[in-house]
Amino acid sequence: MSSRKKSRRNDGPAWQCGACGEWNATTVDGSVGRRQSYVEDCQVCCRPSVLTLQWDPESGEYAVGSELE
Ligand SMILES: [Zn+2]
Repeated sequence: MSSRKKSRRNDGPAWQCGACGEWNATTVDGSVGRRQSYVEDCQVCCRPSVLTLQWDPESGEYAVGSELE
């Protein structure tokens, strides 16, 4: 009864494309670690950005930074 699962929501942290300014959502694999970075393509302009994710225990979610590759 105190389950607080965010079901049916696949929206991970959002990041903004540095090329076109669009916001994208990324999916975090929590098993990889509390700090991770990887390259993801913008869904709008398809340019790759390097995402840097860091777990923020205070907010309970990942903080994400992005920069153009
Ligand atoms: Zn873009």
